[in-house]
Formats: sequence, structure tokens, C-alpha cells
Amino acid sequence: MRTHVFYNLPESACYGCQACAQICPVGAIEMLNNREGFLYPKINSTKCIECNLCEKTCPTQENVVNPLFHTLPKDVQAAWNINFEDRLTSTSGGIFYVLGRKWIENGGIVYGVDFDDHLNVVHTRVNNIAGLQRLRGSKYVQSDITGILQQVKDDLKNGLKVLFSGTPCQVGGLRTFLKKIMRI
Ligand SMILES: Cc1cc2nc3c(=O)[nH]c(=O)nc-3n(C[C@H](O)[C@H](O)[C@H](O)COP(=O)(O)OP(=O)(O)OC[C@H]3O[C@@H](n4cnc5c(N)ncnc54)[C@H](O)[C@@H]3O)c2cc1C
Repeated sequence: MRTHVFYNLPESACYGCQACAQICPVGAIEMLNNREGFLYPKINSTKCIECNLCEKTCPTQENVVNPLFHTLPKDVQAAWNINFEDRLTSTSGGIFYVLGRKWIENGGIVYGVDFDDHLNVVHTRVNNIAGLQRLRGSKYVQSDITGILQQVKDDLKNGLKVLFSGTPCQVGGLRTFLKKIMRI
């Protein structure tokens, strides 16, 4: 009898962060579009080995097994980019570009959201300023983050410094994913 929450998780409780699909060691979780175009996990029960890693990695508040990141921020700061042109080419204060540029100048990797050749909104990895420019500006639809959590893990394991930009749910999913795999 399969009992873990993923078999009964309502769509309203799922952030679509893909941490479950990307942690699954046997590829038993597929992300499928619902009728509104949002991605939700679907478990293939014939592939599932009941390891429960999906449940342990899920950051949703409904998942009582893993409520680990629902804490208050340690510190809150506000800033804006003093360069007018930078602000015009960003969505609001242009701080993402300042942080990303500095990060890349120091040899780091930036993850953010771009359009692919078919105008799909996708998370992607960049290591140069030209790539960073493409990440600027909010794309107001759910980004496809397939494979990205694994790439972040690989970069960190290779000693690279990673700046990840995404929605709070995506950051939550990344943190639980990394915590499970790298114990950070
Ligand atoms: C889906 C979404 C909804 C938002 N809703 C609000 C809101 O209701 N109220 C509010 O005050 N601010 C909201 N924001 C934040 C706002 O739009 C700006 O992104 C933010 O103020 C940062 O601006 P910036 O000028 O520093 O960076 P920008 O140069 O605008 O860069 C935006 C950053 O967001 C990332 N990003 C872009 N599209 C997506 C996406 N679809 N999913 C995940 N990450 C993405 C990019 O990779 C980049 O790192 C939202 C952002 C997103 C992505």
C-alpha cells in the first residue's frame, strides 16, 4: 500500500519547483502540464521504489515531513541600482544585474530565467555578461527548471560559486534538493 503524501498532494499545495522530480533516483516522477499550463508532478507507480526522497525534498508547507525553511529572514535590506540605463533595462531596481555582473566578474556562475528559441521561459546557466543580459527582466510565467537543480549541484561540487535567481518556491526547492544531496 503506497501511503506517502505525493500520491494525494493537491495541486494547490504544490509549488511546481521540480525538486521531487529531480531528486528521484529512478526517474519515476514526470512534470505534466495541468489544464492551465502549470507543471505538477505525476508519479509512475510502476517505477517508484518507495524511497520517499520526493517527500523528504518537497518544500511545500503542506508537507509536514519537511517544514524546514519556513523561518523568518535573518536580515532584510533594500537597494537600487544607481545607473539609470540599468534600471530601464530591468524590471524594477536593477539590483539583479549589479549582483550578477559582480558575481561573473569574480568567476562565478549565475542561474536565472531566459527565453529559449521557441519563446519558452526557461531557467538557464550563464557564465558571461552577454548571457547575464538575457536574464534581465521578469518573465511573468512559470519557468521550466528541468535539470537545473542537478546542474547547480554539479557546479557547487566543482567548487564554483553559484548565484541562483528564481521565485521563492524555486529557491525553496533548490535548498531542500541541495540539503538532501550535499547536506548543506
Ligand atoms: C514571476 C514573477 C512574479 C513577480 N511578482 C511580483 C509582485 O507581485 N510584486 C513585486 O513587487 N515584484 C514581483 N516580482 C519581482 C519583480 O518583477 C522584479 O523581478 C524584481 O523587482 C527584481 O527586479 P530587478 O530589476 O532587480 O531584476 P531584473 O533585471 O528584472 O531580473 C529579474 C530576475 O528574475 C528572474 N526571473 C525572470 N523571470 C522569472 C520567472 N518567470 N521565474 C523565476 N525567475 C524569473 C531573472 O532570472 C532575473 O534574475 C516578480 C518576479 C517574477 C519573476
